Amino acid sequence: MKDVRVIKINIGAPTAAQTLLRLEAGALWRRLVKLHKYCRRKQLSWPTQGQLEKHFKNRFSLHSQTIQALIGKFIANIDSTRAKRKSGDKKARYPWRDKKKFQVVMWKVSAIKRQGNRLSLSNGKTGQKLQVKLPTNLPMGKIVAAELGFRELRITLSNEVVEPLSAGLNVVAGDMGVIHTTVMTDGVKSLGIVGRGLRSLIQGKNRKLAIYSELLSKTKKGSRRNRKLRIAKARMLAKYRQRVHNLLHHTANRMIDFCVEREAGTLVVGDITEMSCGARQKKKGSRRTNQMNSGNPLGQLYNYLAYKGRLKGVTLKMQNEAFSSQFCPVCGKCHKPTGRTYYCRHCGYIGVRDNVGATNQLNKYHHNGRMLENTFIPPDALKYLRPVALRQNVVVRLTVGTLLNTTLNPALTADAVEVNPSVVLDFVA
Ligand SMILES: [Zn+2]
Repeated sequence: MKDVRVIKINIGAPTAAQTLLRLEAGALWRRLVKLHKYCRRKQLSWPTQGQLEKHFKNRFSLHSQTIQALIGKFIANIDSTRAKRKSGDKKARYPWRDKKKFQVVMWKVSAIKRQGNRLSLSNGKTGQKLQVKLPTNLPMGKIVAAELGFRELRITLSNEVVEPLSAGLNVVAGDMGVIHTTVMTDGVKSLGIVGRGLRSLIQGKNRKLAIYSELLSKTKKGSRRNRKLRIAKARMLAKYRQRVHNLLHHTANRMIDFCVEREAGTLVVGDITEMSCGARQKKKGSRRTNQMNSGNPLGQLYNYLAYKGRLKGVTLKMQNEAFSSQFCPVCGKCHKPTGRTYYCRHCGYIGVRDNVGATNQLNKYHHNGRMLENTFIPPDALKYLRPVALRQNVVVRLTVGTLLNTTLNPALTADAVEVNPSVVLDFVA
């Protein structure tokens, strides 16, 4: 199985060589845009990828594959615009910005050489090689592609890994929400991941965005104040994205860890794609809840879950989550809970709302999309975790509350303690 991942490396302020390359790629891009524009105006047939590659061969101080990659990106842009226009989107525009200075520089396998933590990127016969120092803690794998942007280098790592065995035959179902990003259960144990940190990030971002748009509306387009505000806004958004990215990675790690711990090879989550953008807008709710729902980056979390799960033998499955938070697991009547607790007016069942939702999802999965009463009861064992990195347990406790009166025997390492606990007892005595 191939494990392919893209990693972003912060390389700091651009060096002269990097700027030169990005300018060169920008020049090629401008030529492409102008050429295409000209063809459109004169109603000539549009050049194909092959024709463009032939035309621009050896004309820029870039690797031949870099030029091809940029042309490929341009053609992909055109194709997607054409598809959009065909499906009725009249606002979609073909590439038209021919004043753009910089462009991302892309390298393919044949232009990449790596020696230890040094990366050397070839730029054709006329261009100088670009040398970049890689961080030492990169994951294993061969670098198959690289992209140079402003202050960052993105590399694609491909690693051949052994297909993991399924984590087990059990099933874990999750109920996704806002207060708790998720509550998961396998019918015996439940785990909740607290989502308050994520919510506060989203709210903070929305508040700041409102302030920025208010300030921006008072400035003239093109003025210095306008430019400074736009830069500050972009910086704020970049920081927000990084923090959300970090939080979601930790959340996904905790979720997959729970599945592995419960020996579950399947993780069932609510299908959010079924709720289309239009339906989301139509759905009644206060402005507050609407903001929460549209800003909740669940799709991003699902992507992380899918690839992290694949590496640990957990398959992600989607399921319609209709009525799963309203169904009473004991008597089977439906009603909407208010607040964090679920209370059934018919049979008097009381439970934690998200725990009930997760159990009902599990119920649904086991009965082909239907929920049956009195089959899966929400477990009492519910634990909450915050989405943070788990601290590695480095300190091994030798005694409980008593002092060792000898110096530590060097032969008695932490490993030995774990292998044979009786050694510790002798030692203490
Ligand atoms: Zn009931």
